[in-house]
Amino acid sequence: MPIATVNPATGETVRTFEPLGAEGIEERIDRAERTFRDYRRTGFDSRAALMTAAADLLDKERDDIARVMTLEMGKTLSAARAEAAKCAKAMRWYAANAERLLADEHPAEADVADSGAHRAFVRYRPLGVVLAVMPWNFPLWQVVRFAAPALMAGNTGLLKHASNVPQTALYLGDLFHRAGFPAGCFQTLLVGSGAIEGVLRDPRVAAATLTGSEGAGRAVASVAGDEIKPTVLELGGSDPFVVMPSAADELDHAVHTAVTARVQNNGQSCIAAKRFIVHDAVYDGFAERFRRAMGALVVGDPMSDRTDIGPLATEQGRADLEELVEDALARGARALCGAGRPEALRHGWYYQPTVLADVSPAMRIHREEAFGPVATLYRVPDLDTAVAVANDTPFGLSSNVWTRDTDEQRRFAADLEAGGVYFNGMTASHPALPFGGVKRSGYGRELSGHGIRAFCNVTTVWYG
Ligand code: NAP
Repeated sequence: MPIATVNPATGETVRTFEPLGAEGIEERIDRAERTFRDYRRTGFDSRAALMTAAADLLDKERDDIARVMTLEMGKTLSAARAEAAKCAKAMRWYAANAERLLADEHPAEADVADSGAHRAFVRYRPLGVVLAVMPWNFPLWQVVRFAAPALMAGNTGLLKHASNVPQTALYLGDLFHRAGFPAGCFQTLLVGSGAIEGVLRDPRVAAATLTGSEGAGRAVASVAGDEIKPTVLELGGSDPFVVMPSAADELDHAVHTAVTARVQNNGQSCIAAKRFIVHDAVYDGFAERFRRAMGALVVGDPMSDRTDIGPLATEQGRADLEELVEDALARGARALCGAGRPEALRHGWYYQPTVLADVSPAMRIHREEAFGPVATLYRVPDLDTAVAVANDTPFGLSSNVWTRDTDEQRRFAADLEAGGVYFNGMTASHPALPFGGVKRSGYGRELSGHGIRAFCNVTTVWYG
């Protein structure tokens, strides 16, 4: 894949970039490792001051970087602005909380004595240079979600961003540098995915984190496994959105949330609700309102404030989505709305918001991730079936359930196979809450204390 900015709203190649050669890569790895030796000894206060300066810069430059994101991957400008604001918030959160999250841990005195020590504690020390392989869909947020905790913990970072968001990638390296972080703390590597194995095998690189597809996760984790280096993988998702009868009184609210949960980021979010599993008692009311609301969304220029859904980020992404929908229709699914390109938008990679009913396990879309504004509907007779359908997927990122019944809530919280269970709302990440999945959605957690400790050497310090 060439490293280039290609406007998904027009298909026009705006700018291309030469990938870094072997010498450029070597220079950056070397700088990252040398910087780590000193940077790891800096205190939380000085790191927090740098992180806060980066957040201030980002706030000031929010509109400019939002335009770049929209140009490169097609999210609406309002969504891009919100993403930049969310990044600044996460930076400040880690600036304020990193020291507390990484404070020494002291086991019970009796246990310390039982280990034969007169004193023992646990210390979180940084691991070193961490390679971050990141996707285009939240081109700032995915990176900041890694960088803010990793840098606050005293690590240094190398970013291999998706090849279609090079300007956002370069902006991120520049942002941390201008905020005052030592050169080498956070650097962008403009390279294709073919260069990743060499970087990861380099002994100066300690660990990797990857957010992206299953294939990319498998490739990076295999090399890391071979090198015995830790990884965090945030992969795909096909999150369920279950609606139970107690939602009958607030069906409009549930539908409104369902639409937002499905089409956020033009439908290209790992934690978007993708499968709508609705109890028979409320199915007809939900399906009709959902169809109307999805069909009424405005598809168009992502730079316009009137637009709800912009283009998909890549031509290939739209082709993949079209294949999934065609396969479902050929196997008996019914399109309640959409299921095609908008006629009025001939250029750019647009796709209509789509609702498919009568979806069955024989269809690819039942098991694969629909990365675009396509929702599937399932009618279920009872709670057991709802849980079974929700879990009938290779993925396990997050899940959403609409019910006010506390017994039902307990059951879903116990039995849904996912890294999150969100009741009466939609999944959204927050710096204080862990984020990640099970099954083919990956392993490890980002955000919260779990995220910052992911790239730490959990060290036992023991005094005999
Ligand atoms: P992708 O094709 O897997 O790309 C992600 C990153 O991996 C890019 O930087 C890509 O580089 C790189 N890459 C691809 N193949 C690689 C390989 N064999 N070895 C090393 N690096 C490789 O994914 P995407 O299409 O950008 O993003 C969509 C996917 O990401 C969806 O499945 C979505 O659900 C998932 N996602 C997950 C989360 C989460 O938190 N769980 C969040 C967002 C997205 P190139 O661009 O150069 O190919």
